[in-house]
This record gives sequence, C-alpha cells and structure tokens, in this order.
Amino acid sequence: MTPFARIAIIGLGLIGSSLARAVRARMPGVALTGFDRDGAVCETVRRLSLLDSVAGSPAAAVAGADLVVLAVPLGAMRAVGEAIRPALAEGAILSDVGSSKQAVIDALADCVPPGVQLVPAHPVAGTEQSGPEAGFASLFMGRWCILTPPPAADPAAVARLADFWTRLGSRVETMDARHHDLVLAITSHLPHLIAYSIVGTASDLEDVTKAEVIKYSAGGFRDFTRIAASDPTMWRDVFLMNRDAVLEMLARFSEDLAALQRAIRWGDGEALFRRFEASRAIRRAIVDAGQDTGAADFGRSHPETPATTPGA
Ligand code: NAP
Repeated sequence: MTPFARIAIIGLGLIGSSLARAVRARMPGVALTGFDRDGAVCETVRRLSLLDSVAGSPAAAVAGADLVVLAVPLGAMRAVGEAIRPALAEGAILSDVGSSKQAVIDALADCVPPGVQLVPAHPVAGTEQSGPEAGFASLFMGRWCILTPPPAADPAAVARLADFWTRLGSRVETMDARHHDLVLAITSHLPHLIAYSIVGTASDLEDVTKAEVIKYSAGGFRDFTRIAASDPTMWRDVFLMNRDAVLEMLARFSEDLAALQRAIRWGDGEALFRRFEASRAIRRAIVDAGQDTGAADFGRSHPETPATTPGA
C-alpha cells in the first residue's frame, strides 16, 4: 500500500513537476493535486496531464491531502504556509523540498495546526533548468533525500515520509536541520557561489574578449557555466536563507584559496601537487559512490579519432 492516498504539491516547477511525474510512475492510484502562482505553469501542467487537478488556490489544493509538499523558492515558504494553514487536514504531513532547512522550519513554525506534522525534506537532486517542462520522473532515482524533522516530530510521520521517498527511488537520510545546512553549504551552495563569481569575472574582463571566453570555454570554464546557469530566484533565496553556514564555509574557502595563491607566488610545486592529488581522490570517491559517471569529460561525446595510418 502506498504511504499516502492524496498528495498536494505547491509550486510546479522543476522539482514539483518531477515529483508529480515520479509519483505517477511509482505510485499509480494516488490522487495528485497542485497549485502554482504562475498561470502559464498551471496551463503547462494541465496540458502535460501531470496532476489529477490543478487548483485555483493553495488552500483549495491542500484540502483533504494527507501529504502536502511545498516546492516553491525558499523565500515563498512562509506566505504559502500561511495561505494553506486553515485548510490543512487533520493527520496530514506538511513537507517541502527546499535547499536550506533551518530557514524552512523557522518559516513554517507558525503554520502547522495541531494534528499536522511538519517533516521538512531536501531531495539532493536537480538540474540547472527551471519550470515544469524541465522536470522528469527519474530525477530522484539513486539520489539522496535528507529529512530534517524538528525534535518534536512524530517518528511515525518521519518513517512514513522516508517510505515515500524510498519508493520514488531515493536513498533517505535523517539529519539535524542546522547540520544539513552546513553540509550543503560546502557541497552545493559554495560551488554555486564560486561558479556565479568566476563566470561574472570572465564576462567583466577587459583584456580578454567575451568571444574568446566562449570559444575556448572547453578548458574548464564551460563546466562552471552549467552551474552558473541555475535559477536566479532559487539561488538568491538559498544565500539569503543559509547565510551563516555559507559565510562560515566561504571564510574557510578564502583561507585555502590564499594558501594556493601563496604556493603559486613562491613556486611551491610540492604544496600544489599535494592539494591536487587529494582533490583527485575525492572525484574518485564520488564516482565510486555512484553519484556521477566515471566516463571521461562527464561522458560528453567526442568525434571519433581518425585511424592512424601506419608510418604516417
Ligand atoms: P522552479 O522551477 O523555478 O519552480 C518554482 C515554482 O514555484 C515556479 O513556477 C514559481 O512561480 C512557483 N512559485 C513561486 N512562489 C510561489 C507561491 N507563493 N505560490 C505558488 N507557487 C509559487 O524552481 P525549482 O527548481 O523547482 O525549486 C523549487 C524548490 O526546490 C526550491 O525551494 C529549491 O530550493 C528546491 N530545490 C531545487 C533544486 C534544483 O536543482 N532546482 C534541487 C533541490 C531542491 P514564479 O516563476 O512565478 O515565481
């Protein structure tokens, strides 16, 4: 039996629409409703038949749902929480997919009526694209979903949500919200900040033209541009909502960057080599853990190398 009979998703972009597709694929028979403030998004969701019904308001969408998932940007969580509070059904689980967790707990603290359980979650899965057409059913397969229940959460509700994400193909872990925010600050938030920064620096250069930056991007730059193409609203909110953890990691990063700068200035090849060798081991561990492909150049296709003629 599926853990929920009626699921409401508020926010039908990349993550919300992927969740709808995954539920359809893995839990047929579950009633799916949803709402998005963007009329064009609602139209697309109807056209793609991703839900059983698209409601006219967030409150109408959550009425009678035993699981409500907020898939809106972090800055919109509180407003949505306030709008749905009176309509949440007794016994429902209120969850979300936000990329920062303590901020969601703080935003929703006053929006949970008695008889409703708040169990925040973060599927560590995504792409640099946005909107319902960018979503796909297998997005969460083999990826981690981190649950961050507040200390008073009912363990039965946490287990039910863990079961839900496991059935969608995710691997589930439970963590304290503040610890989640620290871990994600280094594994996700700081890399995005660095990508936004380096792409900005390259486009502001005066001695190197923008055409040259684009032409020679395969030297490494283009891999930063994928990350830096991520949704501006989402990432603005991530940095505003996970400020302390990001600033802490940024301070550590700046010190390590200064150490590399010094090694380059003083010709300390040994220090550079040691650092690069350790980094390579991290890449190997990520591939070994099944979190990325081991294929060269992220598995991009390359033209066949022409056969060499003997003696040529
Ligand atoms: P998205 O594709 O931009 O979709 C978000 C949708 O929510 C948009 O259609 C947006 O409409 C709508 N929305 C905004 N405010 C709303 C409100 N008050 N009521 C109803 N709908 C509202 O973004 P996403 O990538 O799916 O991200 C959604 C959440 O998932 C965020 O909290 C993010 O931190 C989290 N997350 C994202 C990723 C990722 O890689 N993208 C990964 C894991 C978790 P407008 O366009 O009109 O604002």
